[in-house]
Amino acid sequence: MPKATWTYAATLAFSSAALLVSAQSPRPPAPTGYDDTPLIPGSEWRVHDGKRPRPKVVDPGTAVPGEKPGRAPADAIVLFDGKDLSKWQHADGKPAAWKVENGYMEVVAKTGEIVTREEFGDCQLHVEFQTPPPVGNSQERGNSGVFLMGKYEVQVLDSWENLTYADGQAGAIYGQTPPLVNASRKPGEWQAYDITFVAPRFKDGKLETPAYVTVFHNGVLVQNHTQIMGTTRHRAVGSYEPHGPKASLRLQDHGNPMHFRNIWIRPLDLKP
Ligand code: MG
Repeated sequence: MPKATWTYAATLAFSSAALLVSAQSPRPPAPTGYDDTPLIPGSEWRVHDGKRPRPKVVDPGTAVPGEKPGRAPADAIVLFDGKDLSKWQHADGKPAAWKVENGYMEVVAKTGEIVTREEFGDCQLHVEFQTPPPVGNSQERGNSGVFLMGKYEVQVLDSWENLTYADGQAGAIYGQTPPLVNASRKPGEWQAYDITFVAPRFKDGKLETPAYVTVFHNGVLVQNHTQIMGTTRHRAVGSYEPHGPKASLRLQDHGNPMHFRNIWIRPLDLKP
């Protein structure tokens, strides 16, 4: 008999939790955030500002993705097709320790982040993910991340009825720019990011042009050619550190048993 996955186990846990919540407290958790962090340049808000307005909730419909993962474009490099982690390794070069079953990979908490063996710069990237049942609050819910070039995080989070700080929600450029809207689906439902990324350019050890990113979350635009301010930081404003034109893509282990499937990338040369 196949081993029970969290999708099933969690339905039970989720139902029990819902019962507990309705019996004890009808109110959702209070909004979270910070008021002692640096101001984000060009913004009236602090990093992870608890008072920054949360993005409006938008039902993304059902166009992307379907019940089953779609097929990658012909010129894409398939980074994960549901079968194995051969395109990935642990960030320290050891074999990736995440689990593969039922057509998805699952983050095995505390085993570390995984990175692609191949390196990329400008690209179009497709990633599907499924968040586990909420067992915590705020940033503890379904937290992972797509780190472009291993440095610039498009936040992955369970943002369903989650009042975490705006620049930490799903589709945020973490710590910098909230998504335009909150197009999140419920925990357990498959979701997708379609990302185009223009890598930063450096010349003589200095930033020449910054990185830009466009993100569709479940087919809904959440970042439109957003300028990235630098390497992702927690409680601080990121800055650029010069690096080469290509680097590994990184998926975050934030301690939650996230699922990923159908990951593909199209390397591009977008000339900023
Ligand atoms: Mg994250």
